[in-house]
Amino acid sequence: MTDAKKLFIKTYGCQMNVYDSERMVESLAPANMGGEGYVVTDVIEDADMVLLNTCHIREKASEKLYSDLGRLRPLKNAKPDLKIGVAGCVAQAEGDEIKRRMPLVDLVVGPQAYHRLPDMLRGLSKTTDTDFPVEDKFDLLPQRRATRGPTAFLTVQEGCDKFCAFCVVPYTRGAEVSRPADRVLTEARGLVERGVRDITLLGQNVNAYRFGFARLVRDLAAIEGLQRIRYMTSHPNDMEDDLIAAHGDCAKLMPYLHLPVQSGSDRVLKAMNRKHTAAEYLALIGRFRAARPDILVTSDFIAGFPGETDADHQATLDLIRAVGYGMAYSFKYSPRPGTPAAERLEVPGAVADARLHEIQTLITAQQRATQDAMVGREVSVLYEKAGRMPGQMVGKSDHLHAVHVDDSQGKVGELVRVKISASSSNSLAGVRISL
Ligand code: SF4
Repeated sequence: MTDAKKLFIKTYGCQMNVYDSERMVESLAPANMGGEGYVVTDVIEDADMVLLNTCHIREKASEKLYSDLGRLRPLKNAKPDLKIGVAGCVAQAEGDEIKRRMPLVDLVVGPQAYHRLPDMLRGLSKTTDTDFPVEDKFDLLPQRRATRGPTAFLTVQEGCDKFCAFCVVPYTRGAEVSRPADRVLTEARGLVERGVRDITLLGQNVNAYRFGFARLVRDLAAIEGLQRIRYMTSHPNDMEDDLIAAHGDCAKLMPYLHLPVQSGSDRVLKAMNRKHTAAEYLALIGRFRAARPDILVTSDFIAGFPGETDADHQATLDLIRAVGYGMAYSFKYSPRPGTPAAERLEVPGAVADARLHEIQTLITAQQRATQDAMVGREVSVLYEKAGRMPGQMVGKSDHLHAVHVDDSQGKVGELVRVKISASSSNSLAGVRISL
C-alpha cells in the first residue's frame, strides 16, 4: 500500500461541526478517493492538507480564522504543496473574501457543499463553493460511516427558519431541511453494526424535523443493539406532545433535554424574536418533568442583549432558579454582522460582564447541586474509554455526566450499572454493581 496523504482537520464550535468534520474525513478517505485519498493526522506539520471547519456563533469568528490562517503561513512556505481549506459557517459567510485576504487558501467550502470536496481536489469543481445545492449532500457522502467508539452523532435536520435577532445560522446554514427517515434509519443501523450504542440526533432545530421527530425516535428505538438515543438542539416552539410522551415511555430515550431559552424576560424574548414567553417555556419544562421526573435540563443564555434592563436580567435569574438546570452555556451578547440585533444599541460591556458573571455563578451552583444529588444513586454508564488511572473506565451516565469507574474488567462499549460514590467539579466517580 502506498503511503496515503495526511489530513489535519481542526473543528470549531458545535456538535454539528464535529459531525460535518467526520463526514469530510470519510469523503476524503482513500476508500472514497483511491490513491488521492487522505488519512487523518494529529500532527499538523505532517499534513498534506489542513482543513479548518469554522463556526460563526462566537464573537469575532472571522478574525480568529484569519489569525489561524496567518499562523499556517510558515508551514505553507516550507511545504508549497500543502493544501489549505476553509469549511463551515465562516466559509459560507465570507466566501471568496477568504481567498482574497489569504491567498494561501486553496479551497473554501460551505456546510451544504462539502460533499464536493473530492471533486474540488481533483480539479473537477470550483474551489470556492458556498452554494446551497439542489442535490442532497447526505446521498453523495460515503454511506459507510467510520466510527470511533460506542457513541456517534447523526445529523437529521439542518438549517433554521426562526431568525432570532442575534443569530447567523439561518444565513450560514440556510433554510430548515430534514433528511428522510429511511436514510436516517439506514445510517443508524450501519452505525450500530459497527459498535455504536449511543446516538445523538443533531439538528439546528432538531425537533423541527418535518417527518415527525417523535416517530423517528421511536423507530430508532426499535433498532436492536442501539441502547441510547439523545437529541439536540431543540426549540421550544417546535415541541410535539409525542416527543414529551416518548420521554416517559421510551426507555432508550435518555432523560436529558437541551432546551435553549436565552432570556427569562418576555420583553427581551420578544426583542430576540423567540416567539414564546418565559411562562410558556416554564410550562413546557413542567410537562417534560411530568413525563420524566428525573430529566436533566440544560439551556443557553445570552447576557446583556441590546436593550436588556436590570429588571430583565433579574427575570433571567428568576427563570434559572425556577428551572434548576443541570448545566447551561452562557455568553455575553456580541453582535454578528448582518443580524438585526447588530444594529441596536449595546448594553455597556461592564454591565453585561457583571450579569454574565451572576448567571454563571447561579448555573455553576445548580450544576454542582445536580451532580452532588447523584451520589448514592445507581446509574447506567456506557464505557467510552479507559481512564487515566490503571483499571479505570470512563463513560457517560444516562444524564450525560462523565463517570469514572474502577473496573479492571470493563470494556469499551459495555453498558453497566454503577453506584455513584463521589462528585467533583466536572465528573462523578462510582463503583460497578453489575457484572
Ligand atoms: S432558533 Fe434562533 S438561535 Fe437557534 S439556530 Fe435558529 S435563529 Fe439561531
